[in-house]
Amino acid sequence: MISKRVFLPIFILSSICLTFGLTKQFQFAKPIETAVGIECEDENSYVRPIDDAIVTEALFALEIPQEEQAPTYEMIEGNPYITQTHAYYDPQKHIIVLNRKDLEEMPYGLRRCMIFHEVAHSKLHQFSNTDPNQQIKIEHEADFEGIKTTQCHMCTHEMAMDVAPIDKERTADGYLSVKEINALTKQFRAENKVCEYHRNANNLKMA
Ligand SMILES: [Zn+2]
Ligand SMILES: [Zn+2]
Repeated sequence: MISKRVFLPIFILSSICLTFGLTKQFQFAKPIETAVGIECEDENSYVRPIDDAIVTEALFALEIPQEEQAPTYEMIEGNPYITQTHAYYDPQKHIIVLNRKDLEEMPYGLRRCMIFHEVAHSKLHQFSNTDPNQQIKIEHEADFEGIKTTQCHMCTHEMAMDVAPIDKERTADGYLSVKEINALTKQFRAENKVCEYHRNANNLKMA
């Protein structure tokens, strides 16, 4: 039987951009061009449905109506993106796909920012754009929408710390600069905004 071969949407690559450099393991692991060439069997064979607490939180925080919420999957062995990215949004299938093992290895706040970014893509139902300037705009929009919605100065601080070494490369692709993330951190701190996880962590420290 000839299986249907598909190219994952190019848009996924923009999500990959976000993930490059975010952990040591993936730091500039692969140039984007390499990722473009990835061809795979229907990637539905390489994902399985899951529940993820941060996705659930993000869907709610981003005020996405129930009928528009993208279902969540996790990559399983054989998915070509398992070594490439931590998470992506597939606009054709309208699904969010997580590389759970990877995400669980990162600091919680960084993971939270990354997942909020992908959920923001799904809220805006963004497809990739072949015009680089449009693509930069799309990434900026999702990054701003996602990170601003985290409403936690500790999460955004963790994000800023992690991406600082690759600030220039990221902003060139449209992602928020460290300066922009720090501005949000400052604002959240002034407003005493902390997520539940970091509130509990702080309470433990004080106990
Ligand atoms: Zn993105
Ligand atoms: Zn937090």
